[in-house]
Amino acid sequence: MTGTFSVKMLLRRQLPGKFMIFGFQDISLIDYPGHIAPVVFVGGCNFRCPFCYNRDLVLNPHKNTPLIIDDVLARINKQKKLCEGVVITGGEPSLWVGKGLEKFLCEVKAMHLKVKLDTNGSIPANIKNLLQNELIDYIAMDIKTSFIKYNLAAGTSVDTGLINESIEVIKNSPIEHNFRTTCLPSLVDNEDIIAISKLLGKGERYTLQTFRPENTLKHDYNALKPYSPREMEGLKKTASNLGLIVEIT
Ligand code: SF4
Repeated sequence: MTGTFSVKMLLRRQLPGKFMIFGFQDISLIDYPGHIAPVVFVGGCNFRCPFCYNRDLVLNPHKNTPLIIDDVLARINKQKKLCEGVVITGGEPSLWVGKGLEKFLCEVKAMHLKVKLDTNGSIPANIKNLLQNELIDYIAMDIKTSFIKYNLAAGTSVDTGLINESIEVIKNSPIEHNFRTTCLPSLVDNEDIIAISKLLGKGERYTLQTFRPENTLKHDYNALKPYSPREMEGLKKTASNLGLIVEIT
């Protein structure tokens, strides 16, 4: 029995199944709306968005040495006087629910700091879990494009029923939230913005992110031309006319 147990323990340690942090930014003025906050980057993602600029975190997180979690907590603690919150981003942080993320968030909350979670919304059950346990104070969910093109924008087969469920969970949650779309001409056009805006509904906060062609997950996306500021304004007008509170970043 003991021998079997030891082997299992060893295997568990070797498997990439534990919450790990692969990056830390001491201060950000832009990632948590209205707050100064450090940013924690977790590795791994279940999507393969071709325009993603966190390619190493998504494709090769285990090529890098993970940061020691206690060190990250100590660095957050050091910033406490300056900060009101912490941003957890990735990769896809919700993949780590049940694998150590909650414990980490408990430690952050014990410092009396707010938590903002970035998510692709693919696992509504895990988002519900974090909400029910009051471990997050703000949630930002990506809507990749209209559902008809979702697989193309996410670079994998996506159950849009789950995306829809996450949208509803977030909209009906008591915490601050916004939805956001990275706009690049081949994946998000005016018709897609209309479909997404109708899905989100009036009064929701919606951020249109200008595509940045740099270090993209799919190399040929580095050569794609982003929308011009004028074209981005056109997309903003479309969503605003449908009742959303829209900003461009
Ligand atoms: S942009 Fe896509 S692939 Fe990159 S981290 Fe977000 S969901 Fe994952």
